[in-house]
Amino acid sequence: MKCFFCHRDIESVVMVIFEGFAHKTCAIKAGRYCEKHDVPKTSFQENTCHACIRCIDEDVVNLELQDRSCVKFLEENLPRPEFNALMRWAEVISRITHSEPETSVLRGLVTRAHYTNKKVSEVLTELAFAQSITKLIPPDLQEIVDDHYRGLMALKAPFN
Ligand SMILES: [Zn+2]
Ligand SMILES: [Zn+2]
Repeated sequence: MKCFFCHRDIESVVMVIFEGFAHKTCAIKAGRYCEKHDVPKTSFQENTCHACIRCIDEDVVNLELQDRSCVKFLEENLPRPEFNALMRWAEVISRITHSEPETSVLRGLVTRAHYTNKKVSEVLTELAFAQSITKLIPPDLQEIVDDHYRGLMALKAPFN
């Protein structure tokens, strides 16, 4: 069995990553392994970016405690249809994760911040500058989410 990064044989210490197996040290060097949590990072953007889910979890909790103004910032700085699309996405995600829609927005922001190596404030600026949530939620995903959302609303109001 060969290491994905150094192509040398792997004997004892192995870890599973998207592409196969690697030495832990090689994966750490390649930025694909979180030393703090001792887990492989998760792939994003079709395996071009990587981030540790547990680091993201921690940052979401911290952000919830420290700064809850992110959603308000987006509400004030995005065109209304874009903000509404964001909140529909957050509502659908929240049904799956059993959390508040606001937390889903924070999680989306923190996740992008991690895999692009930016600060959350930079991600917010990026979205406001683009006047679009496409960087956070790709259009094809928005379509899928909107289908789910219509389904949810139909359940909520069966007599409408
Ligand atoms: Zn290696
Ligand atoms: Zn981590």
